[in-house]
Amino acid sequence: MYIESIEIYGFKTFVNNTKFILSKGITCIVGPNGSGKSNIVDAIRFLFGENRLSLLRAGESSDLIFAGSTSKEPMNVASVKIVINNEDKILPIKTPRVIIERRIIRGKETKYIVNGNDSSLQSVQEIFKSSNIFGLTHAIVGQGRIEEILIAKPEEKKNIIDRVAGITDLRKRKEEAKKKLEETEENLAKASVALSSVK
Ligand code: ATP
Repeated sequence: MYIESIEIYGFKTFVNNTKFILSKGITCIVGPNGSGKSNIVDAIRFLFGENRLSLLRAGESSDLIFAGSTSKEPMNVASVKIVINNEDKILPIKTPRVIIERRIIRGKETKYIVNGNDSSLQSVQEIFKSSNIFGLTHAIVGQGRIEEILIAKPEEKKNIIDRVAGITDLRKRKEEAKKKLEETEENLAKASVALSSVK
């Protein structure tokens, strides 16, 4: 599974429909300061479900939509579309390519479109459940974050590693299972008391 292309339209600086074709391996994007490199990362974060405006470097949701310039009118809709190569069937969708689009209309909720059909954040989350990339909490390392991780306390570093490795989730499930087991044991004890009083 890998991202084949990213298409951005109306999102922040991307007033024209812009398509980035990626190949397997590493892709570098270079450009002058303020040319919109980080806006591409914001677009990817947005597509992968990020709703925290601070992480999208926006004050309000309308800041995600092209705000206009001296020669261009502001836009009312922004869209980010990603084509994922799914030939290895990592995503639980039968098509060899999965096309996911997230749109935002000024003053309205965002919406998802998967392979041309209307979808929801929850459904898209479900598709990515097994691949651990939805949310991208630790897959994107923002500017200044490397230093922050390097100077973090050992306990904080361990928490980050646990989260990246998916151990946090397993630990939570283990606690839930332990609680259920305890409840079942309590119920069993009550049942055996009730049973002995009937005998
Ligand atoms: P650097 O190399 O300095 O980190 P960069 O190439 O990553 O820069 P970005 O941070 O992606 O640049 O882009 C910043 C530019 O995006 C600013 O000029 C800002 O005005 C513009 N911008 C952000 N939001 C919008 C918007 N909604 N409409 C139009 N332009 C926007």
